[in-house]
Amino acid sequence: MTVTDTPVPTGQGRAPAPALAARATAVGGSPIRDILAVTARPEVINFAGGLPAPEFFDGAGVAAAFQQVLTGTPGTALQYSTTEGEPTLRTAIAGRTAARGLPTDADDVLVTTGSQQALSLLATALIEPGDTVLVEEPCYLAALQVFSFAGANIVAVPGDDEGIDPAALDALVGLHRPKLLYTVPTFQNPTGRTLPAERRAAVAEVAGRHGLWIVEDDPYGELRFEGERVPWIATYPGAEDRTVLLGSFSKVMAPGLRLGWLRAPAALRRACAVAKQAADLHTPTVNQLAAARYLADNDLDAHVARVAGAYRERRDALLAGLGDALPAGSRWIRPEGGMFVWASLPAGHDTTELLRKVITYDVAYVPGAPFYAGAPDSATLRLCFVTQTPEEIGEGLRRLGTAFTGAVLS
Ligand code: PMP
Repeated sequence: MTVTDTPVPTGQGRAPAPALAARATAVGGSPIRDILAVTARPEVINFAGGLPAPEFFDGAGVAAAFQQVLTGTPGTALQYSTTEGEPTLRTAIAGRTAARGLPTDADDVLVTTGSQQALSLLATALIEPGDTVLVEEPCYLAALQVFSFAGANIVAVPGDDEGIDPAALDALVGLHRPKLLYTVPTFQNPTGRTLPAERRAAVAEVAGRHGLWIVEDDPYGELRFEGERVPWIATYPGAEDRTVLLGSFSKVMAPGLRLGWLRAPAALRRACAVAKQAADLHTPTVNQLAAARYLADNDLDAHVARVAGAYRERRDALLAGLGDALPAGSRWIRPEGGMFVWASLPAGHDTTELLRKVITYDVAYVPGAPFYAGAPDSATLRLCFVTQTPEEIGEGLRRLGTAFTGAVLS
């Protein structure tokens, strides 16, 4: 029991503690979290998580980088730093962004404590309660939480296996006059889908014509297994001055470093920096300097290519057995990279209900329903394919097949 759980006797002159803010109770946690709590058991083959495979963390390389900054420049590494971020890291991030086709200076970048913080900062800087935010359908869960905390009116933009439908976006923008569109155009969480170039151009055109911000969140884009890289929406005409590009080292270096960034036009970036001062003053100096050191001493792209090669094998192992594991008539999206496969069971299946039974077979997935801002499709689910070896994935799929046969028939 923690201190806050300790029952405080009321009566005898003691009043109850004040209530939580309405937003804290309104947003709440996820009921699925409770069901998934059992997946922590080691015998469970867990397709539910969203964790990078830890065996590919470059522990030695990261340790050497920390060692160098802590012994070489301890006075700087352990000191307070600027809110915008360490210049060496901002320069490295700007260089990587420019090398991928989006001209960027160090000053254009704000280092954040994971890209998750960038979402919170943007919500603080941009959203008044009641403002409309457009999101993808389905959408990254923790983005929905951020926008809910901000009191936004969240409206889902319909799409298909290739991402949001620009014509539907155009219509919704006309109807709701939203502040922003939040999108993960490449290897989306949760669907794994990637928005093709023509649709990116169309989204940029809509934003330019109507005047809304595009928040382009790209934590997975580097994890491409096949096909051609599609340019960021931020590079298309119309989007240049109204796109906020979010990046992260979580999926390519290590999520425990909590290092992300946002690239935004000056006025919005400055507002985010003020919001960041209030949130945490700055992202840990030692982590920033170590990451910059790591980038200087190592070939991150070569490392990511090795990781992507292994993830590709894991995706292939999942796709090879999925047809036999899921009920007949199921369909799924084949991702060209990233970490997730999204499946739809035939109508009538409820993946949240099914999960209770499936978990008793020591295998787990995430039901799709919580990822929807609008009416959920209860027959959907997300599978993360990167955390298990191909052999474990094969075994997990056998269990899933047995579980679905048992659960659906019983
Ligand atoms: N955006 C998306 C789409 C994500 O999937 C995640 C993490 N799962 C994040 C942002 C946050 O990542 P981080 O804070 O670790 O950079």
